[in-house]
Amino acid sequence: MGLTVLRLGHRLPRDERISTHVALVARAFGADSIVYSGQRDHGLEESVRRICLRWGVGRGPVPFSITYEKDAIASIAKAKERGSLIVHLTMYGLPADGAASRIREAEDALIIVGSEAVPGEVFDLADMNVSVTNQPHSEVAALAVLLDRVHQGKELSKDDFCGKIAIIPDPRGKKTIEKKG
Ligand code: SAM
Repeated sequence: MGLTVLRLGHRLPRDERISTHVALVARAFGADSIVYSGQRDHGLEESVRRICLRWGVGRGPVPFSITYEKDAIASIAKAKERGSLIVHLTMYGLPADGAASRIREAEDALIIVGSEAVPGEVFDLADMNVSVTNQPHSEVAALAVLLDRVHQGKELSKDDFCGKIAIIPDPRGKKTIEKKG
């Protein structure tokens, strides 16, 4: 199952931190890549690439990546044509629990999170408009919960990201190992 996250409408400087967190959650919770639209932000791309360099490119079959897409609607339509399952995270949608198994069974899924008001076209293009509660909160939390439901919690135990540094879980300390080379 290929999982790509699409972050709509990145705004500078307002979304710098949140978009970075969307990317970090996408990587850590088992997506293969993130695409973002809105304003191009080389700083965002650089910080995600630095995380991958140091902490690893993820455990999926392909190294985790971040790419910019100027025309989000066109990229959603193209993904749909390729047969991806289009999943839009929105507080107005149907409960995530009911969506997770369909996403898990899909060959390829595109999970969309917004920033500012999301155009109606996205709701129409989506195969599934999915909510994590029907309360307004955060794209970071919504993405984390949905990915956790899709992976049935298994993403929390698999930690081999093939990075230069890895953490040895410790009840109190901060233990890490550095891999040479
Ligand atoms: N003000 C924007 C609007 O009304 O479309 C949304 C702002 S919200 C903080 C940004 C994104 O977080 C939304 O586009 C959605 O992807 C996600 N989000 C927020 N609450 C959610 C919820 N309860 N369920 C699913 N996604 C949610």
